[in-house]
Amino acid sequence: MKTKRDYQHTRLDQNFLSKDSSFRFRCTECGECCRNVPREDKIILSPVDLYRAARYMDISIQEVLGTYCDMIPGGESMLPLVILKERLDGSCSFLKKGKCTIHEAKPLACAMFPLGRIAFLNDVTGEHEFHYYLEEFQCAAEKDTPVRVQEWLDRFDIETYDECIRLYKRLGGVCSRLMHEAKTLEERQEMFQTAFFLMYAKYDKDQPLQPQIEQNLAFIQSMYPDGSFPRKN
Ligand code: SF4
Ligand code: SF4
Repeated sequence: MKTKRDYQHTRLDQNFLSKDSSFRFRCTECGECCRNVPREDKIILSPVDLYRAARYMDISIQEVLGTYCDMIPGGESMLPLVILKERLDGSCSFLKKGKCTIHEAKPLACAMFPLGRIAFLNDVTGEHEFHYYLEEFQCAAEKDTPVRVQEWLDRFDIETYDECIRLYKRLGGVCSRLMHEAKTLEERQEMFQTAFFLMYAKYDKDQPLQPQIEQNLAFIQSMYPDGSFPRKN
């Protein structure tokens, strides 16, 4: 039987772009996508986004989380998700005078737009592989300028962080499994807090990021070596 992921894969597969291919796009910098983020298109952040923003603003990752982010519970994954905080008027809290105040270090999802990216787990290598596609969008952008996918990714060094994102996804995978494994409310609360801490908060912007994610992954694996909660008899 086909899983939801198979269908998603099949649907997107037809539209995946190779890095040598081109699309047509020119942002007119109207700022509308930062002023009026549709509710269903929340920008979900990873520790890479938090790290880049913290270094750019020279504040701690915990301060970025507290000032510029919100946390929502994930659906199927049961994980905490960190999203960009919106002001009451619906604008992103990084937007000032119509400009993104962290433009050079903006979240990867913002930097990649109108490209979207999806990661599939390769069952053979056990690694996540990234696939790029063109988001369906309607905005004030012009479609008069050809852009190569690779050049678009290079503008913000997107691929520099690929290994960090792969590790973060593995960390999320372990935390999600444990969330599903938790039986009691107490276990769920404990795991939710642990997941938030390891996935987003336990990072120092002044240290290299990749070893910190590796450390957090190793920690959760050592806490629950069987991938499950120890049961009390
Ligand atoms: S982070 Fe910057 S680019 Fe992204 S929505 Fe906010 S203001 Fe816009
Ligand atoms: S043209 Fe589109 S992508 Fe560019 S700022 Fe406006 S809404 Fe955002």
